[in-house]
Amino acid sequence: MMNEEKLTLIVGKLKEVLPKKDFIPLHEPSFVGNEWKYVKDCIDTGWVSSVGRYVELFEKNLAEFIGAKRAVAVVNGTAALHIALKILGVRENDEVLVPALTFIATANAVVYCGAIPHFVDVEERTLGLDPYKLNEYLYEIADIKNGVCYNKFTGRRIRAVVPMHTFGHPIDIETLIEVCNEYHLVLVEDAAESLGSYYKGKHTGVFGTVSAFSFNGNKIITTGGGGAIVTNDDRLADLAKHLTSTAKIPHRWEYVHDMHGYNYRMPNINAALGCAQLEKLPEFLTKKRELAKKYIEALRDITGIHFFEETHFSKSNYWLNTLIIEEPFELKRDELLKVLNDSGIMSRPVWRPLHQLKMYKDNPMMDLSMTEKLYQKIINIPSSMSLLEGF
Ligand SMILES: *Cc1c(COP(=O)(O)O)cnc(C)c1O
Repeated sequence: MMNEEKLTLIVGKLKEVLPKKDFIPLHEPSFVGNEWKYVKDCIDTGWVSSVGRYVELFEKNLAEFIGAKRAVAVVNGTAALHIALKILGVRENDEVLVPALTFIATANAVVYCGAIPHFVDVEERTLGLDPYKLNEYLYEIADIKNGVCYNKFTGRRIRAVVPMHTFGHPIDIETLIEVCNEYHLVLVEDAAESLGSYYKGKHTGVFGTVSAFSFNGNKIITTGGGGAIVTNDDRLADLAKHLTSTAKIPHRWEYVHDMHGYNYRMPNINAALGCAQLEKLPEFLTKKRELAKKYIEALRDITGIHFFEETHFSKSNYWLNTLIIEEPFELKRDELLKVLNDSGIMSRPVWRPLHQLKMYKDNPMMDLSMTEKLYQKIINIPSSMSLLEGF
């Protein structure tokens, strides 16, 4: 088959799954529950800003859904990552291991702490951090002294590792935990994309000492903009709350602050939206799986590409659906992107690998060949709940 015929075939197959519209966005939110009611309640009562009952309710319901002890709502997922690293003692000049294939926020949060992102490779099976490759790498570069991991070559402390569950697909977290134990690394999960995703029946975000979630407009649920710091440790949760709310000591009238805090609070009006969205999350997850299943069936007999599926150890939220272009790349990524976008099927490549960006090109890094290969292989296709009937 000629490439051109193949591309037409793929577009045709995707159109069988998608509604008949001129333009299908990559991901749009669904507001089909109590959103309007709860947001109106904020406006009617005047509780729109940093104090109000929806913030506490959202934190409680979110923690319960995830199966964690505590959740602290914040202004966005990037702020959640920043504070997660900060409360775990990531300091100036520390190195933090970060996958090279992730959204830029994962690395930026490290920089906000004055620390240095050290890029590690991902695996094709999960699209996330490769714990086996990391283990071999640390064997070469790590030096443990008094229970602290140092980079032999830079002399800096390696404090933490921040895996990310790409497009909602959990990484091989059990193996990574073994590596963390061996090398005395703190585990922080970037679970921004994986609300509703499970590893061996446990929700992502409960494996790390602390984890970060995002409720940006394109995520599986949205608060407009928002994020959360999630942990089972009360002391860390209290510290996160304190730091993200200007580190003010409670008092009836005095303004006394005891740390360099941040104004990272989630406003009540955003939390109200979040409460309504959380109520719908179980239904969203069902819809997401239905859509993924339809794509899998539609694309079954096509050679040269396949639909990326969850691994045997995980249950994915299928937040962003993903096509993988097979080697030896008879189809070129950009050809496929062009045809899909020209046909009104909004499609996007994965993020440019972080070590290829000018601010990060001189950072420490391991061999990143899988990241570089996957960059040529991944295309995200429309994934909204609203692509299915009834939404
Ligand atoms: C969305 C996202 C974040 C946080 O994003 P915000 O827009 O700040 O909420 C962090 N990491 C990853 C991988 C993300 O996809």
